[in-house]
Amino acid sequence: METDNTSRRRLLKRGLTAAVTGIALAPQGRAQTPAVITQRKFRGWVSRGYGSARTSLQEMTLRPITGRQVVVRTEASSLCYSNTGAVLGLQPAPTNTNSGDGLPPAFRRLNEMALIQGHGGVGIVEAVGAEVRRVQVGDRVCVSGTPQCGSCYQCLRGRSDMCQFLGRQGPDDLVPAAELRDGTPVYMNSHIGGMAELMVTFEEWVVPVFSKANAVELGMVCSCVSVAGLGATTSQVVNLVDAGSTVAVVGCGPLGLSAIQGARIAGATRIIAIEPIKARRDVAMKVGATHVLDPNVEGDKLVDRVRALSYGPATGPNDRLWAGGRDSGGLLGGSGADFVIEAAGGDQAKPKAESGPDPTGILPLRQAYEMTAPGGHLVTTSLPRGMLTLPAVMFTIGGRTHHAGQAGGCSPLKDIPRFVSLLESGKYDAKSLATRVVPMADMRDAYEEVLYRTTVTAIMTA
Ligand SMILES: [Zn+2]
Ligand SMILES: [Zn+2]
Repeated sequence: METDNTSRRRLLKRGLTAAVTGIALAPQGRAQTPAVITQRKFRGWVSRGYGSARTSLQEMTLRPITGRQVVVRTEASSLCYSNTGAVLGLQPAPTNTNSGDGLPPAFRRLNEMALIQGHGGVGIVEAVGAEVRRVQVGDRVCVSGTPQCGSCYQCLRGRSDMCQFLGRQGPDDLVPAAELRDGTPVYMNSHIGGMAELMVTFEEWVVPVFSKANAVELGMVCSCVSVAGLGATTSQVVNLVDAGSTVAVVGCGPLGLSAIQGARIAGATRIIAIEPIKARRDVAMKVGATHVLDPNVEGDKLVDRVRALSYGPATGPNDRLWAGGRDSGGLLGGSGADFVIEAAGGDQAKPKAESGPDPTGILPLRQAYEMTAPGGHLVTTSLPRGMLTLPAVMFTIGGRTHHAGQAGGCSPLKDIPRFVSLLESGKYDAKSLATRVVPMADMRDAYEEVLYRTTVTAIMTA
C-alpha cells in the first residue's frame, strides 16, 4: 500500500521530472537555446564509492537541459566543512552489501552514484531551460546552498529556508546532468554541484546578484556558511540582533566569523567570540569581536564568563534593577548574551590546529543554550552528533527562544543580494575568511586543510 509519504515523494519527483521534460509551465519570453551547449565537455571532481580515492577530477559531457534547469559556469565555490567526509571519503565502506554498516540506505545509494560534490558557488549563467524566469543567460548568479521556490507551504509562511525542495535531494530526486566517457550518468550533489567547471541546477537554487565584485570574495559571501552566519544575525526570519545588544558566537569557523560580522553590522556593542583555535580568535577580533574566549582555558566556567561579560554597567545592560537592568544569577540564569549564535558542530577528524573540548559538538551546543539570557535568543546552525541534555526548568520556563533552520533562517532571494551589498560597501570582510584560494586542480589538498582546520576555509576557482 502506498503511504502518504511515498505518494508525496512521487508527486514531487514528478514535479522535478516535469521540470526537465518541459511540461510544468509555459515558457516566458526569451528564446534561450540550451541545445547550444549540449555535448559540451567540462571537468569536475566526481565522487563515487568509498575511501580516499572516491573523488577524482574527470572530464564529462553535459546532457541536454530543459524545463527549469540552469547551467552556470563556475567562477568560485566554497569548500564547506560539512562536505569533507563525502569529498575525502571519510565514511567507512560497507562491510556487508545488504546491511550492517549503519549507513542509511539513501546515503549508501548516493555513495554509489557518480556525484559532483559541493553545494553552491558563484558563476555566470550559460544556458537556461525554456521555463526559467528568474535568470537569463549572462547573469552573474549565486547558486545558493538553500533553494527557494516561493510557492510551497514553507515559502508562503516566511520560512523559505525550509523550502520544499530542501528535502528533495536524495538518490531518487537527483537527475543526471552529464555523463562520463563510458556513459556513466553524473549527478549534481544537492542539485548543485560546485566542484566543477559547470554547475547544473534548477532555477529555485539560483539568485541573480548583479555584482562586479571579485569572484573569490563573491564566492565567499555567497557560500552556505557566510549566508548562514549573516542570516543568523541579520535575516528577517530571525530579525534579531539590534543595536546595543550583547552577542555570543560559539565557534569561529567561516560561519561564526560571518555571524560576528553580522552582529557588528547590526550594531551589537558586545560580541563575545568563543573558539579553541588561536588563529581563528585572531580573525574574530579583526572582523568585529570585542572579546575572545578559549573554551579550553575557560573549561566549566565558560558560561559564567559569558554571563559576567554580559552584565553590569560597563558591559551593556546595566545592573540597576529599577532602571532597566538585570541581575546576574538566579535559578533561571539571570544574565547572559541577548543573542547567541551556535556554530561549533562536530569534528569529522581530529584537527591539526587546536581541538575543542568536545569533538561531538554537543557540549558547546549545551553551553550556547545556557549562556543565552532569559528572554534572549539562540540561533543554532551546526551539525553536532548525538543527543542533547538541557537543564529542564531553564528549557521550559527560562524564556529563551530557540531558532533552528537552514542558512541562518534567511530568505535567499531577498537576503543574498543584501549580503552582496554588504561586501560591496566594505562592511563584510570576505578576504579574512577565504584564507586559502586554489585552482580546481588543487581542490583535494585545500579540502584536507579545511578538514584539519589549518585554514579558516577555502575557495576553489574554476
Ligand atoms: Zn555547506
Ligand atoms: Zn518553497
